[in-house]
Amino acid sequence: MQTNFTPSQLADPHVAESEKILRKCVHCGFCTATCPTYVTLGNELDSPRGRIYLIKDMLENGRPADTEIVTHIDRCLSCLSCMSTCPSGVNYMHLVDHARAHIEQTYTRPLPQRLIRSLLAATLPYPARFRAALKLAALGRPFAGMLARVPALRPLAAMLALAPKRVPDASPSSSPGRHPATGQRRARVALLTGCAQSVLEPGINEATIRLLTRLGVEVIVPKGEGCCGSLVHHMGREQAALQAARDNVDAWTREVDGEGLDAVVITASGCGTTIKDYGYMLRLDPAYAQKAARISALAKDVTEYLDTIDLPEPAVRSGAVVAYHSACSMQHGQKITRQPKALLQKAGFVVKEPREGHLCCGSAGTYNIMQPEIAAKLRDRKVKNIEATGAALIATGNIGCITQIAGAAKLPVVHTVALLDWAYGGPKPINL
Ligand code: SF4
Ligand code: SF4
Repeated sequence: MQTNFTPSQLADPHVAESEKILRKCVHCGFCTATCPTYVTLGNELDSPRGRIYLIKDMLENGRPADTEIVTHIDRCLSCLSCMSTCPSGVNYMHLVDHARAHIEQTYTRPLPQRLIRSLLAATLPYPARFRAALKLAALGRPFAGMLARVPALRPLAAMLALAPKRVPDASPSSSPGRHPATGQRRARVALLTGCAQSVLEPGINEATIRLLTRLGVEVIVPKGEGCCGSLVHHMGREQAALQAARDNVDAWTREVDGEGLDAVVITASGCGTTIKDYGYMLRLDPAYAQKAARISALAKDVTEYLDTIDLPEPAVRSGAVVAYHSACSMQHGQKITRQPKALLQKAGFVVKEPREGHLCCGSAGTYNIMQPEIAAKLRDRKVKNIEATGAALIATGNIGCITQIAGAAKLPVVHTVALLDWAYGGPKPINL
């Protein structure tokens, strides 16, 4: 694609990077067919190619974002299906991240949107606040239907609908500490315990720690680690996202420089995609560029890490038929497609792959709160495809997908690592 940026515009390294990305796009439109919002809405401006044109126009003319571009960029799930399809290697992720930061700096959203976005940014990344907010949500649930009738308040209604009926107790596994390997130590890893996941399903971290330590891996939950920053990153709040990245880089670097780390293990693929991008996000910060690149190289999804370990024969071969839902951040963001299925099969499960596996379930961070109508359409389409497999349960590797799919599925939804922990000697997941 031809671009017309001036030399002074290109002096901005963010614009220069976006220009390089734009030039790679050859307008072929292959990406439109696999874009969930194009497939759902049928509007070219809700396709990757349409959004790329809108972003190019905004950046080239150096103009503030307007309502049209905000509408279509907000509808983008950042699922990155377009990146898997694109034959030209267009890095849509970095382009849309830049567009979102530009929107945040140049566009004033209506007051209800600003309040809801600020509320999400101030609660979701902080486990104690998030837990308190979920408990309050239980009191507000009877008003969800009423709120849903006012368009500006639909995100609040969606938030109440997504909140679990019972909030699990806080788990010690999410607190800083050391979990020694059973028997001889073969490796030492840091575990990102995460923010929303540790509140919604603390059992995922518990299963990960049990499984890894049984396999001879020491697990550290380092002091100072916190939310990966992706929630605010996807809102365009760049400074908050970069601060979260720096805090985590510092926490894990202390371990790397101390007793050493073989990996930073992540159990939510949405977080994994962001942490693997820390090197890029902090590339312009001389104090962090190198350290962040080193951490990104150490980041591994738990299934990616387990795939590097010699596993024993499973203790329990349940033979259960599992529909594996590959989160977008797993398959498109991190290109991890083989390992989770191979591990489940090796552990004695029969794995089924639903049709249209490349399409997002509509979770996408806070998307199911901010864009509830599109998110619900995608969820229902996903659940129909999953249930058509005839499986007895659903496995996936991202808490956002678990919450979203469980909102409509009749089958239990379980994290992949909880099934692996069960197969290799841990307890049966509580919802099975
Ligand atoms: S990230 Fe997903 S929703 Fe956004 S343009 Fe690409 S395919 Fe479409
Ligand atoms: S597939 Fe790639 S090159 Fe083709 S229009 Fe989409 S982003 Fe551009």
